Amino acid sequence: MKKITACLSAIGAAVALMAPAAPALAQQKFMTIGTGGVTGVYYAAGGAICRLVNKDRAKHGYRCTVESTGGSVANINTIRAGDLDFGVAQSDWNHHGHKGTSSFQQAGAFTDLRSVFSLHPEPFTVLARADANVKNFTDLKGKRVNVGNPGSGTRASMDQLLAAMNWKLSDFGLAAELKADEHGAALCDNKIDAFFYGVGHPSANIQDPVTTCGAKLVNITGPAVDKLVADNPFYAKATIPAGMYKGNDQATQTYGVLATFVTSAKAPEDQVYTLVKAVFDNFDEFKKLHPALANLNPESMVKDGLSAPLHPGAAKFYREKGWLK
Ligand code: GLU
Repeated sequence: MKKITACLSAIGAAVALMAPAAPALAQQKFMTIGTGGVTGVYYAAGGAICRLVNKDRAKHGYRCTVESTGGSVANINTIRAGDLDFGVAQSDWNHHGHKGTSSFQQAGAFTDLRSVFSLHPEPFTVLARADANVKNFTDLKGKRVNVGNPGSGTRASMDQLLAAMNWKLSDFGLAAELKADEHGAALCDNKIDAFFYGVGHPSANIQDPVTTCGAKLVNITGPAVDKLVADNPFYAKATIPAGMYKGNDQATQTYGVLATFVTSAKAPEDQVYTLVKAVFDNFDEFKKLHPALANLNPESMVKDGLSAPLHPGAAKFYREKGWLK
């Protein structure tokens, strides 16, 4: 007993000693961005944003960090749970998350979901082994296909495409759920014939299997895709330019979404304002931090693909710039 008391008072003394430091600690503020796999574009974009935020840390007091996550759906769910401040999410899941539709039907509408800006286009991309004899998505029937990990936007969008085509996962010979960081090696090791991935271009994730085993991009076209694009404002036809990846000399026809940057209505206004100011005050540098960001332009980023309302901290900065009335 005596011993414990002594111990407790020692802790008490230590806490008392630490007390004067508390005000300085309170000034450290944090923001965390949920991204995707480390070989994808979300992780690089999140890293670029944090780098620009952290440049002015001494002025605004925020320390920005990125987390590798399962992708769009996981990011929206984790923001909702209050465990992430920001995240990157495909524009289809930005829409459905806010409305509580599709994959978010069970969770219900996340009415506090807020848009910050949109980022790069993400064409849905099928990469196949050269020996798999796959020219279009429809050739994937009976093949071994990676459909994406649960929690990824990729996987959730694959479910939409399958439904539109009247296909089931069992129409594939194998439906693997590997993470995006694993699908390239699985393809080149002949464990799968193809993978599906909603991602910006160019991306190291696609470049690596193209270089390692001569993998080929595959078109995603046909009546089901036409209907998906006609029925849903967040989908648009997309092209992966000819020659973007070695040995893929024809343009690839597909459809896709935009990557969007999201947060919660609960995020403090100064936190969101600090982040958007860091990105747009350093915009030329931002665009150079990843080639998929090279064609971004602010006027489109503040409106395109944003189903969830703008966060007031972002809207304030855009109004100051005259990008928003
Ligand atoms: N769009 C993908 C997803 O949400 C992630 C792409 C990336 O990490 O760049 O699953």
